[in-house]
Amino acid sequence: MRKRAIKGEYLRHMQIVEHAESLTPLHGCALVATMGALHAGHASLIKQAASDGRPVVVSLFVNPTQFSKGEDFSKYPRTLEADRELCQSAGAAAIFIPSVQDMYPYGVDAANAEAIQLQLPLVATQPKLEDAQRPTHFAGVCQVVAKLFDMCQPAAANFGEKDFQQLRVIQEMVRREGARWKKLVVHACPTIRESDGLAMSSRNRYLQANQRENARGLSRALAAAQECARADMDIAAAESEMLRVLARHQLLVEYAVIRAPDTLLPIENFEPKLKSGARALIAARLDGVRLIDNASCDGAISDRGG
Ligand code: AMP
Repeated sequence: MRKRAIKGEYLRHMQIVEHAESLTPLHGCALVATMGALHAGHASLIKQAASDGRPVVVSLFVNPTQFSKGEDFSKYPRTLEADRELCQSAGAAAIFIPSVQDMYPYGVDAANAEAIQLQLPLVATQPKLEDAQRPTHFAGVCQVVAKLFDMCQPAAANFGEKDFQQLRVIQEMVRREGARWKKLVVHACPTIRESDGLAMSSRNRYLQANQRENARGLSRALAAAQECARADMDIAAAESEMLRVLARHQLLVEYAVIRAPDTLLPIENFEPKLKSGARALIAARLDGVRLIDNASCDGAISDRGG
């Protein structure tokens, strides 16, 4: 009984904000932008944001404009009660749960039309990674993140390396529009993994138990690329090795490449300078489930397995 009361009281301390006007007292916060269905990866972003001492606002909004037709917008997991508890225990000051109507008052079709007019950073259009597989995705991401920045006026925003191209896109958008969000600093947060190496993702809940072993192919392929880098192999050989591991796990590969970590464009060689930061990036499908992962080639993902 007492435990419940304490929990209830504790929960009351985290604000639940539905309308942007109520965010004004929270301007200068650290923002963690999410689509909900939260897991320990999101919690680590919230904790890292809170450690800087600013109130943390977590936005929970499944943004329709970053999904294309045929993607999983309508079936994207929505777990508000559990999300609320996770945000509370990770130290968030507020969660912001806008409605689609509040975000896009002229409707989603109009918002989609507006999004594709946006001038995106080159890293959102040139690498031919997520941008090639999901052509309107980054337009929707930039649109919603810019709106959230306008509404929250954060001093800091934490994004995960799990979505590495997205992180680079946001960093470039903020750099380019510096005057719009004064002194906003974007922090990159490391990818949190399951104990078997699989990067945590809201979409992992789509995986059947018998698909988990194959899903480990992504982190194993990244670990293989890291091993190739340590052995001074060239990029083509490292990419072949990644493909070999992915094929062994019956993953249908969209891309498995090693790129320059800033532009995400192809690089010639494992030059010593580049070797330290070269980024291995993978997107692959396991039946209907699309998985992405990436890692720095000079890192070391622990689970190597078969
Ligand atoms: P999402 O809810 O998938 O839009 O993700 C919200 C934020 O959480 C993004 O900045 C993601 O990169 C980040 N994120 C998602 N999964 C992870 C993870 N496994 N580790 C660290 N950050 C993550």
